[in-house]
Amino acid sequence: MYADITLPIPFDTFTYLVPPELEQGIGIGMRVLVPFGKNKSHVGVVIRLHDTPPTGVQLKRIDTLLDERPSVTDQQLTFWKWISHYYMSPLGDVYKAAFPAIMKHDAPEKKRRRKNIVEKYEGMLAGGIQHELNVHQSAAYQKILESWNTHDITLLHGVTSSGKTEVYIHLIKKFIDEGHQVLYLLPEIALTTQITDRLRSVFGNELGVYHSRFPDADREAVYRKQLSDNPYRVILGVRSSIFLPFKDLGLVIVDEEHETSFKQQDPAPRYHARSASIMLARQYGGKVLLGTATPSIEVYKLSQEGKYGYVRMDRRFSNIELPEIEVVDIKRLKFQKRMKGSFSQTLLDSIGETLRDNGQVILFQNRRGFSSFIECKMCGWVPRCEHCDVSLTYHKKTNSLTCHYCGSTYTVPERCPNCETSDFMNVGLGTEKIEEQVHTYFPDARVTRMDLDTTRSSQSYERIIHAFSQHESDILIGTQMVSKGLDFDNVKVVGIPDADMMLNIPDFRSYERTFQMLAQVSGRAGRKGKKGRVILQTRSADNAIISQVVENDYDGMYRTQLEERELFRYPPFCRLIYVYLRHTDFRTVDHLAQQTAKLMREALGDRVLGPDAPLVSRVQSMHIRKIILKMQLSDSITTTRQVLQSIAAKVLEQPIANSLRIYFDVDPQ
Ligand code: ADP
Ligand code: ZN
Ligand code: ZN
Repeated sequence: MYADITLPIPFDTFTYLVPPELEQGIGIGMRVLVPFGKNKSHVGVVIRLHDTPPTGVQLKRIDTLLDERPSVTDQQLTFWKWISHYYMSPLGDVYKAAFPAIMKHDAPEKKRRRKNIVEKYEGMLAGGIQHELNVHQSAAYQKILESWNTHDITLLHGVTSSGKTEVYIHLIKKFIDEGHQVLYLLPEIALTTQITDRLRSVFGNELGVYHSRFPDADREAVYRKQLSDNPYRVILGVRSSIFLPFKDLGLVIVDEEHETSFKQQDPAPRYHARSASIMLARQYGGKVLLGTATPSIEVYKLSQEGKYGYVRMDRRFSNIELPEIEVVDIKRLKFQKRMKGSFSQTLLDSIGETLRDNGQVILFQNRRGFSSFIECKMCGWVPRCEHCDVSLTYHKKTNSLTCHYCGSTYTVPERCPNCETSDFMNVGLGTEKIEEQVHTYFPDARVTRMDLDTTRSSQSYERIIHAFSQHESDILIGTQMVSKGLDFDNVKVVGIPDADMMLNIPDFRSYERTFQMLAQVSGRAGRKGKKGRVILQTRSADNAIISQVVENDYDGMYRTQLEERELFRYPPFCRLIYVYLRHTDFRTVDHLAQQTAKLMREALGDRVLGPDAPLVSRVQSMHIRKIILKMQLSDSITTTRQVLQSIAAKVLEQPIANSLRIYFDVDPQ
């Protein structure tokens, strides 16, 4: 007997011999320990059992059978194969992403040293629904149910604080009462104790939470429980929870559907959890609800064409008005020398007023560190990372320069290596600099900063959110972390010192993203009580996207963006696949990228663009080239994949391509 086994390395499967003594016990989906290479071993999963010996290779034998029952169900395997196929990633990469790390080790299940998360909530009973829905919420709830009669996938488009979460809770209740399971997906940083507590109080020990910040043993415990005969009814989790075993998945909710972090960037598989979870639900005959205040253009288009159902909620809960957004043209103010550091008088005044009224303020700046970079005043020299093709970010607190790509840290040079003068200036605005200025203008205010630098330790993110919601701090300064689904009662003002940064990113999605980001962060203002206020500082006051944000004109944004996308042939009018090549030597990668693009053009015609160096063309000493394929919507996905895979194989065959890496990004974000 032979077994095809997937291993945690970027290949599909390897064939091993099943020793006679294991033939009885072995089954598909079980974990095995196998020898690999000269003196390595791996834990793999049995994908297929058969009796066709492969020709021409010396087969190795399976060492140990690690499971009595499958660790991966047939349904999961079907799903793994779909991910592998659609996202052009070897099955081994999918296996790596799908399992908690412990399950990929051969150590026997350790005696539990500490109480794990499953035991912790064992005795906790469901508290039942707390809030009744108001009329608008009930109407939306009914419409969603009706919509599912004709559309398995429905978009809930509800303004920030319209009470979407409460609608989800009622839908979840309905599905689990009918005996189904529910998967509730949130972006990584939106999955906080705020939301967990809300669901826990309703669903008690029927709720399982799956988060990458949790210890691995906890994640394994959740995985094992889902395999058992008594699985959780509701899973609240981040994108990787689509890989958990389910028995009867009746409903998938994807909250903040527009969030790019649902797409896994690195490492492979580069899957999109929204698309993948739609596939997952289809596999179980379940329904899907996509929820957001700012739909992605792709999803909105499908809903407008009637391919997805569409339900809208236009009012905030208890009729609080959406915040008023005031645009401050800082180009003019700068010219007139009327800026106070990074602040206009308008922004300073409204912060001051809010603090006097005992209200709270959020300041949003989507860049951490002090300044974007430092520059020699004399000759313009800018320090760059030795391993990556990017300028270094200046961090004042630690007086260091950091590469935000590879994490390398450098000391600030005393003199410019180019011209020997020692006069540097800070260019660009980061959260640290805002914090410093806030201390200057509001010395008595209690200020907290929330960005990657202040949230590295495991609980710090939750601690900051908790402290701010308890009003232990007056001003919260942060990157996009402060915009994700947080619900604070007392925030009267949201300040955006520099709204332009994202607009200037050269990407066809940058306007859409800017709209979404600004609308989301504005949505943190005035969620309870009085109408909130947003002060938006920009140098592009006449850019249409800014007035669309001010007017909350999602449809306007959608129409203008759609026209552009159609004109320049971008998604949703085509399907994108990026082909990446990586190598340590830039001449080699250039040469091989040219060759790959040529082969692609021969096979696929003028749908191929490039090769080009991407925005950051060297990371960790690897040179990167990118080739873009714009597939027509009518093109066969399967055929195109085969063409690309065989071209890659052909290029990699050559001795010169010895240490070249080629990988694909399907539906890049
Ligand atoms: P969204 O998810 O649309 O941003 P939420 O569900 O977080 O909105 O609701 C906003 C606020 O209103 C929350 O503090 C929530 O507790 C409250 N809320 C929403 N619906 C109800 C309800 N039916 N009864 C009482 N409070 C509600
Ligand atoms: Zn210089
Ligand atoms: Zn670097």
